Amino acid sequence: MTIQNLPQSEAAVSSAISSEGKTPSRASQPVENPYQMALRQFDCAIPFLNLKAGIIEMLKRCKRELTVTFPVKMDDGSVRIFTGYRVHHNTARGPSKGGIRYSPHVDLDEVRALAMWMTWKCAVVNIPYGGAKGGVICDPRQLSLHELEGLTRRYATEIAMLLGPDRDVPAPDMGTNPQIMAWIMDTYSMHHGYSVPAVVTGKPVNIGGSAGRLEATGRGVMFTVAEAFKTFGWQLAGAEVVVQGFGNVGSITALTAHQMGCKVVAVSDIEGGIYNPAGLNIPKLLQYVKEFRTVVGFSEAEQITNDELLALPCDILVPAATENQLTRVTAPRVRARKLVAEGANGPTTPEADAILKDMGLIVIPDILCNAGGVVVSYFEWVQDLQQLFWEEETVTDQLRRIMVRSFHDVYNRAKELNTTMRNAALVLGIGRVAEATMTRGLYP
Ligand code: GLU
Repeated sequence: MTIQNLPQSEAAVSSAISSEGKTPSRASQPVENPYQMALRQFDCAIPFLNLKAGIIEMLKRCKRELTVTFPVKMDDGSVRIFTGYRVHHNTARGPSKGGIRYSPHVDLDEVRALAMWMTWKCAVVNIPYGGAKGGVICDPRQLSLHELEGLTRRYATEIAMLLGPDRDVPAPDMGTNPQIMAWIMDTYSMHHGYSVPAVVTGKPVNIGGSAGRLEATGRGVMFTVAEAFKTFGWQLAGAEVVVQGFGNVGSITALTAHQMGCKVVAVSDIEGGIYNPAGLNIPKLLQYVKEFRTVVGFSEAEQITNDELLALPCDILVPAATENQLTRVTAPRVRARKLVAEGANGPTTPEADAILKDMGLIVIPDILCNAGGVVVSYFEWVQDLQQLFWEEETVTDQLRRIMVRSFHDVYNRAKELNTTMRNAALVLGIGRVAEATMTRGLYP
């Protein structure tokens, strides 16, 4: 059994609903270094904040960066060496929080950027965490279940010095899933001699995971979109939605949009896209993907490429795949009429942001739009620490409440400052982290 057969992977991911890594190809896009991109976004927010040079310099850097190189016994008896990372960007507001990514494209700068975005994201939705991220350079689709378990347990051991419920709490991201979190939790617990469920979130529910965690990111995307529509006086029922990426985030976003009465006209994964202007039957598509592990070949739709998908007319475009998808090349072709809702982390480059703004499009930025995942991770951590578990309805109601509140916090800031939602979210997030740093003071 390979990773395809495991329960779903997180994020923006890669894949079909049951978790293979199928991200749209990077080759067709100009690829920007994500850390440079995160720093350029940061620089745009700084003029709106009254921060001292020392604080600015501190917030640009990651607090800790661990690189590990470790051996894994492969099924054929050989030993392969893998490289992984765990980066803590900032811990001023609490333990660091962020996913672990398994992908051949992982590198230190990508992990740094993702860690920094986690810091701002947790601050934007006002949950008591700093930001972290981890990653292992590997293609999980090429590993057997046994190899994947070996890799995960060894990586968890290598980074264990950084982990802990009060220190750093990983979660799924691209290419990882609840089963991988279970192995991390078990490995950490074995070293401690007792079960420590709160050391990771996004675990299976039977070992302390939260109801509604798997669905949280996609639901959060649509709660934010729905609130935007309400705020702007637009009608959500019948709105046309295009979703790039059909992993955990993309598939649940599409399903939630469908349930909210939107017309999901196109979706894609790494193999390609499908389009039906009359609307796709998403529950039926999910069944298809369960069996065939790709959206491609679904009978009630026309085949399109990922590039064509980004250029389709729609009301809401949801890039839910990976970084660098809306660029100076692809952004001018976007024909979304109302919103770009970022399900992925870092899908839009600063150049593309400027282009979309000139086109009159509102971009709901990643650090707000996809924060539902980490919000329910926070609920999971709280439930684990209290050993008191909530009904899914409570989880989803609380998630909605936080997404709606955060949307208005960002939107009001954008109006006040006469700036984009991205910049307003960054100003809010960076401002909260800077405030916490100043309240704590510098030691010694
Ligand atoms: N990987 C997800 C993200 O990028 C979730 C992180 C978490 O729950 O800690 O937001």
